[in-house]
Amino acid sequence: MSLPADYHMHTPLCRHATGEPTELAAQAVRLGLSEIGFSEHNPMPRDDWDDWRLRQEDLDTYVKNVQRARRDHPQLIIKLALEVDFIPGLEDWIKQLAARHPWDYLIGSVHYVSDSWALDNPNKISEWQNRDVFEVWTAYFDRLTLAAESGLFEIIGHADLCKKFCFYPKQDCTPLFTKFLAAARRQGVAMELNTAGLRKDCKEIYPSPQIVQLAAQHGVPITFGSDAHAPHEVGLNFAEAVALAKNAGYTHYCRFTQRRREDIELI
Ligand code: ZN
Ligand code: FE
Ligand code: FE
Ligand code: ZN
Repeated sequence: MSLPADYHMHTPLCRHATGEPTELAAQAVRLGLSEIGFSEHNPMPRDDWDDWRLRQEDLDTYVKNVQRARRDHPQLIIKLALEVDFIPGLEDWIKQLAARHPWDYLIGSVHYVSDSWALDNPNKISEWQNRDVFEVWTAYFDRLTLAAESGLFEIIGHADLCKKFCFYPKQDCTPLFTKFLAAARRQGVAMELNTAGLRKDCKEIYPSPQIVQLAAQHGVPITFGSDAHAPHEVGLNFAEAVALAKNAGYTHYCRFTQRRREDIELI
């Protein structure tokens, strides 16, 4: 089996990852990957927004570091991208970022369900205890749907990140999922299969088999990402992710070049 492109990886400039782009690229070459993409956490309009993303002044350095990895590993296709937090009201900021460099794709991710709470932040787990779990999931998927509808992104990241700490609602969430997937289908936005979920409390790829199956039925294209925050995480558990996609009926995944999509056969 040849592994699909790993389109989600981070670098030390987000302040919670190790391994320079060239080191992650070296690992990809060792694994026999033919393509990867860096998707660092985007800068915010204020650098004190939080402490787990690129600072504005580091954006150009990030691009240079990715370019260095390209020079060091000419046999590997290396895409330049960002993982962008989708927060309603920041659309103009995101458009400005999109114009700053020749990105191959932008991953739209929802971490923040309010301006102050990123629901995957381990330091803020107590927030979950103060809220109704179904309301949080609803807020999360409403934002994810807006992100898909926004036309700002090629890919939607880790589509059920809200399961990370195993706060599962009792209610049936299928309507939340299908609303998001219908929006993704309408906009031609891809959904990422992100293996980092296997390394979290939920111990499951993002998103769940149910969502992957619904996505296949809706005709939503897919990409793959390890969400590597260290070299050894590159391409991790990709065989499992490919099996998940194939079981749902997927025969293709997609790649992006300068924000243009191309469909590749899943082998
Ligand atoms: Zn991160
Ligand atoms: Fe993320
Ligand atoms: Fe990420
Ligand atoms: Zn991520």
